[in-house]
Amino acid sequence: MAARVGRNDFQILVLSGPSGSGKTTVVERLINESTVKLVKAISATTRPQRKGEVDGVAYYFLTTDEFVKRRDQGDFLETAEVFGAGYWYGTLKSEIQRAKDNQGWAFLEIDVQGALKVMEIYPEALTIFLQPPSLEVCEQRLRNRATDSEETIQRRLRKVHEELALADRYCYQVVNDDLDRAVDEIKTIIGKHSL
Ligand code: ADP
Ligand code: 5GP
Repeated sequence: MAARVGRNDFQILVLSGPSGSGKTTVVERLINESTVKLVKAISATTRPQRKGEVDGVAYYFLTTDEFVKRRDQGDFLETAEVFGAGYWYGTLKSEIQRAKDNQGWAFLEIDVQGALKVMEIYPEALTIFLQPPSLEVCEQRLRNRATDSEETIQRRLRKVHEELALADRYCYQVVNDDLDRAVDEIKTIIGKHSL
């Protein structure tokens, strides 16, 4: 069970879910609508920047050499090669500190491997797994998003099963069927843990 924390206390909120489950969409809504101040931890990644993604906003885009150097320096809370395609993702410890400095909760949108690591380090973290209504819907959303090649979509879909198998390790599972309903459910969960 996640720890109860005071309204002004620090908490780590982790959101995971398969590609296409709607994490990015839900994160944006929560940042704007949550009554608790959520500070999105900006991850570092070595994957190529997508059109429209701003360095330092969507991610810190690093070369592999830069990423390895920072990992070896101990700058990361966790790292993972999320899709087995040679691209690395990681949460910088400085992002947790930035949330604390801003009197907000650190909001991590990370994969299941990273989330398990965070659960080890911060057992009191509030963890939420976003479930797609079905695998078909997940695939359809990835295609409609139109940001990835067919090869990338296939790689992401192969990972869905690995992620779903770990869903019960999270404090809560929320189905992102209707976006408003799912966002409301998460806001209620956050509210319960901030009393
Ligand atoms: P993720 O970050 O988990 O890969 P995205 O947030 O990019 O997923 O969502 C994938 C696509 O699905 C986007 O085009 C988004 O607009 C759409 N989407 C997200 N949530 C819903 C929902 N509840 N109903 C319909 N479409 C959704
Ligand atoms: P994207 O679509 O941005 O290429 O990939 C996002 C995937 O990487 C999602 O599964 C997301 O949760 C995960 N991810 C993003 N940042 C991090 C991070 O810092 N650490 C880990 N472990 N996974 C991350």
